[in-house]
Order: sequence, then C-alpha cells, then structure tokens
Amino acid sequence: MPGNSLSLDISTLYLVATLVAAMLGGLLIYFWRQEKIAALGWWGAAYLLGAASIALWIAGGDDLGFGLLLAVNAVGFIACGLVWDAARVFHGRTPSIVGVVAGAMVWLGAVLVADPLSEHVRLFLGAGIVAAYAALTASELWRERRKAMRSRWPAIFVPILHGAVLMLPIVLGDILSPAGTGPYNAIWVAAFAAELVFYAIGTVFIIFMLVSERTLAIHKTAASIDPLTGLLNRRGFREATTRMIEREAKAGRPITAMIFDIDHFKAVNDTYGHATGDDVLRVFANVAVGALRVTDLLGRVGGEEFAALLPCGMEEALVAAERVRDAFEQAGIAVDGAPLATTVSIGVAGGPASTELDVLLASADTALYRAKRGGRNRVEAVLEEPLELDHARRLAQAARGDNTKVDAVSEAYV
Ligand code: GH3
Ligand code: MG
Ligand code: MG
Repeated sequence: MPGNSLSLDISTLYLVATLVAAMLGGLLIYFWRQEKIAALGWWGAAYLLGAASIALWIAGGDDLGFGLLLAVNAVGFIACGLVWDAARVFHGRTPSIVGVVAGAMVWLGAVLVADPLSEHVRLFLGAGIVAAYAALTASELWRERRKAMRSRWPAIFVPILHGAVLMLPIVLGDILSPAGTGPYNAIWVAAFAAELVFYAIGTVFIIFMLVSERTLAIHKTAASIDPLTGLLNRRGFREATTRMIEREAKAGRPITAMIFDIDHFKAVNDTYGHATGDDVLRVFANVAVGALRVTDLLGRVGGEEFAALLPCGMEEALVAAERVRDAFEQAGIAVDGAPLATTVSIGVAGGPASTELDVLLASADTALYRAKRGGRNRVEAVLEEPLELDHARRLAQAARGDNTKVDAVSEAYV
C-alpha cells in the first residue's frame, strides 16, 4: 500500500476538485441569472451537486458507511445526468428528468438488489454510468455539428476523453491485476482526481465558448435584419446577394434586380401619422414576401424603399414584379375602418449574374423613376443590359433630371 504522504496528496487533490467544482458551479449559476440562459442553470446545478458529492465523500473519510456511500454515488450520477440535460437544453430540446435520475436508479438497484456486489463490479458499474453520461453529452453536441460552430470539436472531445479516462483504469486494472488491488490503483485514483479538476475546468471553458459563439451568431443575425419589417436590412441584403450572385454566375444564369418605392408615402405619414406609415411598411413587406419566391432575396434598403434580387431572367421577374404591385394595391389597408389606398412603383433591371449588384440596382433605379414619372403604381424595366456602373448612373441621373438624389441613392447601396 502507498504511504501516508500519497494518500494525503490524493485527498488534497479531491479537496481541490471539490472547491473548483463548487466555485465553477457558483459562476455558472451567476451567469445563468445574469444572461438568462437556461442551460447555464442546469450546468451550474450539476457542478454544485458534483461538488457536494465529492465533499460528502471526503467528509466520510475511510469509514464512509454503506448508506452514505450509496448516496455519494447517486448524487454524483445525478450531477452527470444534469450535465447531459444542460447540453439538451442548450440545443433547445426538453430536459429529460428520467434520464437524469436513470443512472442513479440503475446504481441503487444494482447495489441493493445484487448485494453483496464485489468492489470490482461496483467500480466497473459506477465508471460505466459516468462514461455513458459522458457519451450521451458528447452525442448531444455531435448532433449539433451541422451548425458548424468552431468550438464543437473540443466540446465533443473532452467528454469522450473524460469517459475514456474513467474506463481505462478499470479495463487496465483487469489486465494488470485481476483482483483490482495492485499498486496501480492508488496511481489511478490520483490520476482520476487530477483529471476531474481538468475536466471540470475544461468543460466550463467549453460552455462559455459555446455560449459566446451562440451570442455572437445571434448578434450577427440581428445586425443583418431590419427590426420593423423583419426583412434583411441593407447590410444583410448586400451579404446575401453577394452569395447569390456568385452562385448564379458560376452556373451562368441570369439575375434580375428590383427596387420598390411606395408611392406618396410622405402623404401617408403626414395624414395618418408615422405609426400608420410604419404599419404600411410592414404590410408591404408581408405582401412582397408572399408574392415572391423563397429563393428570391428581399431587403429593406431605405426608409420606404425595398430591393429584391431574383435568380431568373427579365421575363419571369416582370411577372413577379407585377404580382407584388397588384397584391399591394389589393392589400386592403384600413385606418379606423376607412380604406387607405397605397400603391408601389417598381423598377426592374436584369443581366447576366456576373453583372455587379450596384450596376443592376442603378439601372433598376432608372426604371423606378420612369415608373414614378409615368404616373406611379406601375412596373418599368430597363431592357438593355447594363454594362457598367458609370453608364447606369448617368442613365439614372438623366431619367430623374436631378444630380443630387442619384448619388445619394447609389451611395446608399455601396
Ligand atoms: P413618391 O411617390 O415620389 O415616392 O413620393 P413619396 O412621398 O414616397 O416620396 P419620398 O420617397 O421622398 O418620401 C419618403 C418618405 O418616407 C419620407 C419619410 O418621412 C418617410 N419615411 C422614411 N422612412 C420611414 C419609416 O421608417 N417610417 C415611416 N413611417 N416613414 C418613413
Ligand atoms: Mg423614396
Ligand atoms: Mg416613395
């Protein structure tokens, strides 16, 4: 048997593991309340329970009674189950209470029913339960790998490593000393305590990585969305269209751009107020989404100006534009029961997908102002293919007969 100094080291290690687990548990609970991320609460509870389990074990010392030994292990398994449930909750699945207590139940059942269980079988069963929970946690995170978060790898690797470290001494112990009492035992107990500390710290590190990555993803989405209509904002529209243009250019297919401008919108604001104006914008967004295909991109690129990019030729696009125009006219907006007539003018421009977006939009702008001049509530198209930006801008300028606004519009798309 090892000397006293080694057994002191082991209990010191376990004490450190307890303190670290308790501290991390407190940290997780704090951030759960602060950030309102439910999974952090589950993780925090798991750590606190885990700490309590080890503390009980240390407090019991060598003369840990049979009942206390059962309780210590059962609490430990529940903690492992909570870690698994936290991973479920983090990915929006319902927590499984049965799953959380299943390990503890199996353990209690086996130990109580099959009593007396040999020390070796008990050890094997206990480590097996912990390893099973580690595998479940890893598979929960693995299922989410499609989301392509960078931190997936360590998140899956660490629980698997933890399970392996747990199982290794038992499997090896079997080979090296079948009775399970060889000198390797003490070393493994020490190694396990050290691994426990690393696991506890490593897991919290991964948890915070996952959480911060998720938060970043949410913010990134939020930065691309217009809160009033839920459509892409100018930035989001630009990003999404870049991807579509690349894809269509590779396939050698045409694309078509549209700009929508609500007619006499200033009058709606002046007559009914800004809030009603906002309602009209929301109605237009809904109408346009309904009239276009899911493969078409639609964004709000200005106050009452919207733009769309369609992966199709001019002929098809003109049909779609007419559908939007007609649907908005028929939208049946009413203020205090009185109908509010609203219409939209639409400019359309098409070209091969290799055409720059700004060129297309500037051309669509030319067509839009033709539609405005032609009496509004109509669709106009630039039929000749736009070749370069300056040319398209000059055309837009000429169509409007005013120098300042064209630059403002063109710059708005940059
Ligand atoms: P036209 O038919 O020529 O387009 O006439 P118009 O009145 O629509 O003219 P213009 O494009 O100059 O007016 C746009 C108006 O849209 C001016 C601005 O007050 C209003 N507007 C811009 N953004 C918003 C918004 O977010 N909400 C509301 N309610 N109004 C907005
Ligand atoms: Mg306008
Ligand atoms: Mg307008």
